[in-house]
Amino acid sequence: MKYIQEAFDTNWIAPLGTNVDKFEEELCEYVGVDHGLALSSGTAGIHLALKYFGVGPGDYVFCSDLTFAGSCNPILYQYANPVFIDSEPETWNMSPIALEKAFEWAKKENKMPKAVIIVDLYGQSADYDLLLPICEKYDVPVIEDAAEALGATYKGKKCGSFGHIGIFSFNGNKIITTSGGGMVVSNDEEAIKKMRFWATQSREPAKHYEHKEVGYNYRMSNICAGIGRGQLEILNTRIEKKREIQSIYISHFNNTPFEFMPINKEGNPNYWLTVVTIKEGYLVTPEMIISQLEKENIESRSLWKPMNLQPLFISSPFFSHFNEVGNSLGKSLFENGVCLPSGSSLSGENQERIIELIKRLL
Ligand SMILES: *Cc1c(COP(=O)(O)O)cnc(C)c1O
Repeated sequence: MKYIQEAFDTNWIAPLGTNVDKFEEELCEYVGVDHGLALSSGTAGIHLALKYFGVGPGDYVFCSDLTFAGSCNPILYQYANPVFIDSEPETWNMSPIALEKAFEWAKKENKMPKAVIIVDLYGQSADYDLLLPICEKYDVPVIEDAAEALGATYKGKKCGSFGHIGIFSFNGNKIITTSGGGMVVSNDEEAIKKMRFWATQSREPAKHYEHKEVGYNYRMSNICAGIGRGQLEILNTRIEKKREIQSIYISHFNNTPFEFMPINKEGNPNYWLTVVTIKEGYLVTPEMIISQLEKENIESRSLWKPMNLQPLFISSPFFSHFNEVGNSLGKSLFENGVCLPSGSSLSGENQERIIELIKRLL
């Protein structure tokens, strides 16, 4: 409220202003990157990053398969072709095995991608020690979609700092919000400069309105950035609360049909969502859990439906972690997984109720 009030007091309501500059600075400092650009959404950030790497009609872009559509819709904005890469069992993030397969295919078919979008799923870092060398070997830049992973680390480094360009989302469902917004971050000052230009309608430096390139209205408002600054101050307590929620679930669902999303020993997630899968050989299904909770007015969700199974992307190439045709890790996670209620405002009492209801069903 303090930062929002400041915006009103100084009459900087509309695009840009002190809060925007400060929010960019403060987030960059937190993540450990040099430059940031606050935007109207995370999706806008991915769009600008693709444009920066020259993605255009007919080009190819590799992207994590198990993710939210916001990761890959911008590939279509640029009339390019997405190629989806399966998950690996260790972190559910992009499989190095599937990525290598995709690169071999691309080399043979002369369809080398202009960029690889690697997602840090459900608040956990992808395994960058394995993924980055593969992308380097083929000399293809990485866009890190850290929309769900602000505050998560891998080998002590913050998510969002592994790609040439990193993106964050501050949509209402993320670990912190600006009511709607996003940011691109990078150590490449030129990249941020170029994206800032495109995000403000590509206005040329002139006394009048001069345009040589297509542009977008993608900047964040000073009010939204004020919310973001306040949210950034409570990010660490929020991560702590989410970690606590997960540890309570884990302690109660020991020796049940549930298996929790594995956590890579090299990193610390931000515990954005607690996600479980149901072990093989049990009768209970994700639908049964979701509808049982719904009857009590409790919301839970299925996992992201893999992009290669979406009608929109059904004809896009897909590379599985496994060798058998039709088998993929993303598909089995989707069919067997549930996102448990994980909101940071979840009270102990409500969480107990959720656990009781699920236990009864199990
Ligand atoms: C939320 C999300 C996005 C999109 O962010 P918006 O701010 O909603 O546009 C992109 N990728 C992933 C993985 C997300 O979870």
